[in-house]
Amino acid sequence: MRVHHLNCGLMAPLGGALFDGVSAGPTAKLACHCLLIETGQGLVLVDTGFGMKDVRHPHARISPFFIWLDNIQFDPELTAMSQIERLGFSTWDVRHIVMTHLDFDHTGGLEDFPWAEVHVMQRELDAASRATGFRDTRRYPKGHLDGVRNWRSYRSGGERWFGFEAVRGLRGLPPEILLVSLPGHTAGHCGVAIDTGGGWLLHAGDSYFFRHEMDGPERRCPAATRAYQRLMAVDYGLHLHNQARLRELYQDPRAPIAVFCTHDIVEFQALRDMNISGLTPRAAAPYRAAAGARAAGDARRASA
Ligand SMILES: [Zn+2]
Repeated sequence: MRVHHLNCGLMAPLGGALFDGVSAGPTAKLACHCLLIETGQGLVLVDTGFGMKDVRHPHARISPFFIWLDNIQFDPELTAMSQIERLGFSTWDVRHIVMTHLDFDHTGGLEDFPWAEVHVMQRELDAASRATGFRDTRRYPKGHLDGVRNWRSYRSGGERWFGFEAVRGLRGLPPEILLVSLPGHTAGHCGVAIDTGGGWLLHAGDSYFFRHEMDGPERRCPAATRAYQRLMAVDYGLHLHNQARLRELYQDPRAPIAVFCTHDIVEFQALRDMNISGLTPRAAAPYRAAAGARAAGDARRASA
């Protein structure tokens, strides 16, 4: 299975390095790390970032509060649609979209593929449809979700994946793609695990935001990103608990898994620039280490 790493959105919140740990100026750079997977059942997208309608009519689609807070940079070239076409595929080839969760910065591109089946945890769909209060009515914009015709929703049913609850056998998808339950940021938040045949990838969504929350014995996270995670978590204790479990998995030398999150742009660049096709399970661990080293190198260059 070939996997492409796509950044389908850029956010530049005020705070610089207090958000991303590397920016020298007043604004940070946060990615919307999505995946495009080539499978025998067509193309599968994992998350969608911002879409064409967001770019054309941002204020009609997304809360002005979040446009301002995240300083979203709307760019048609970054949409999944544009990037898929630039890779030489037809957007019609996107048959399935697997969602980590339904926040506005992950769902904007759903309507660019209205024919696709959209896979999500049932708890997340419930949370989005029953949202109340200032934050939650804004995090789940109706305009992003109302146009989805083919929801495929799941309850975690006791399957295990490296100690985490998981859903295997997503309808119409190859068995190598799983949902991994990681609630806390939102009620039905999950990771998406992919068995590439050469080791596992785990797209951990918004379970963490900053690479050094994973690669040391303790959580290390700049102040603004820490505050943002607290603001956005429906259950911050559970968010941190699952983040700690993920940190253990990330550092387990026996687990051939490359773990990454949505918004860390240094992590995104490291993974995008590495060819993950054809790695054996044994090779996956150094791949992860190399991605980390590359991230550290970028950090040093950016701060030099
Ligand atoms: Zn997000």
